[in-house]
Amino acid sequence: MWRPRADNGPMPLLRPASAPPPRYRSLEVAEVEPVAERAVSIAFDVAADDLADYLRYAAGQYVTLDLTIEGERVRQSYSLWTPPARARAERRLRIAVAEVAGGRMSPWLVSHVCAGDRIRVLPPRGEFTYAAQPGPARHVVIAGGSGITPVLAIMAEVLDADPATEVDLVLANRTRGSSVLRAEVTALAKESGGRLRVTDVLSREVSPGARHGRIDEELLDELVGTGCDTVAGWWLCGPEGLLALAEAWLSERGVRPDRVHRERFTTTGPVDPRPPVDTPR
Ligand SMILES: Cc1cc2nc3c(=O)[nH]c(=O)nc-3n(C[C@H](O)[C@H](O)[C@H](O)COP(=O)(O)OP(=O)(O)OC[C@H]3O[C@@H](n4cnc5c(N)ncnc54)[C@H](O)[C@@H]3O)c2cc1C
Repeated sequence: MWRPRADNGPMPLLRPASAPPPRYRSLEVAEVEPVAERAVSIAFDVAADDLADYLRYAAGQYVTLDLTIEGERVRQSYSLWTPPARARAERRLRIAVAEVAGGRMSPWLVSHVCAGDRIRVLPPRGEFTYAAQPGPARHVVIAGGSGITPVLAIMAEVLDADPATEVDLVLANRTRGSSVLRAEVTALAKESGGRLRVTDVLSREVSPGARHGRIDEELLDELVGTGCDTVAGWWLCGPEGLLALAEAWLSERGVRPDRVHRERFTTTGPVDPRPPVDTPR
């Protein structure tokens, strides 16, 4: 896993009430790399005068892309998968996009976007974020498919917060090959020295070291059911069915709602009530 050489410290996240509303800027694609079957990581260079707006984000936040594809204007959101310190050191934002068959934007991004392209991007926002707490803690992450993207950044920050903090990741995918950013997860687990424990759950492949099937109550009981009340943060991101199952399981076990964080990829809630300013640059 990449580590920053130097970090100039966190940037303030809150936008003052008097600040102008967020605006789309045209960012240059610096790099496109495959991160699973039919999934790519896209890195955007952030120009010097956009640094504060784009690199002042919290792990777990997302950017919104605005593209015109075959004459249709499409806007979709994609979570940032690198921790903010890495983004600031590289001056790059990195998203990961998994193709949704029949979708308007994701197939285009996976198949056509290239280094040198320019895409209109709204600065990062979102409330699925981790605020570092002092002292060791245990966190549990339940993710599926492209839902690994925001939690990868969150897990890196959580593990960095205290050398005794531990994370259990239960990761659902169809097959190993479709597991988005799996190499990055492996690198983070290795770097954590055993503090990040990963269980792969594969629905369409029998593979050594992975559970076969879907995440259900029994599996959650077995993997993360012990000491539920001592878990500092539960992080859920993935398909709607997985979130519903995990939320019901947590509720049955009386887990405090303020410890449960979830990101839904199907709807975008307005985080900043002011609409973005629509000025191409
Ligand atoms: C806050 C937020 C963060 C997100 N982060 C990521 C991310 O990091 N990586 C990523 O790949 N995607 C992410 N998404 C999902 C992404 O914004 C798009 O919804 C997705 O890429 C599909 O867009 P599309 O234009 O290709 O499909 P659309 O044209 O919007 O949809 C085509 C069909 O696919 C269905 N569909 C839409 N989205 C999904 C989905 N996620 N899974 C299954 N079916 C779907 C629709 O109901 C529709 O039937 C995020 C969404 C939100 C709201």
